[in-house]
Amino acid sequence: MAEETIFTKIINGEIPSDIVYKDELVTAFKDISPKAEHHILIVTNKPIPTVSDVEPCDEQMLGHLFIIARKIATDLGIEKSGYRLIVNCGPDGGQEVPHIHMHFLAGGKLGGLGFPQKQ
Ligand code: AMP
Repeated sequence: MAEETIFTKIINGEIPSDIVYKDELVTAFKDISPKAEHHILIVTNKPIPTVSDVEPCDEQMLGHLFIIARKIATDLGIEKSGYRLIVNCGPDGGQEVPHIHMHFLAGGKLGGLGFPQKQ
């Protein structure tokens, strides 16, 4: 089992967070530093560090991230108008917390994704 992260502490209720959804596979809570009107992190309860660590046995749990993304969009009434889902992977992918999570971003027309930052 991978090391526990700050997200594990949120999932276990050891530190405060604004949880919007939780079940046996994933937990979704508001990002502490929102990059859009709605910025929710959908996190696997199992602490897999990155996409590069996923195994075939994780398939159902990872697919569930999309099911819950759709549920959140429906709950917010933006299923048709749209939203963005992002999964950062590793240092060059901009991943800060080594615990697989999907960013759910929404609220008006979102900007482009952009090129890599110049050194
Ligand atoms: P990433 O860069 O893909 O690893 O995203 C990590 C995200 O976690 C960032 O958007 C942070 O703002 C967010 N974050 C870090 N700590 C917390 C926290 N305690 N509660 C909610 N979101 C957090």
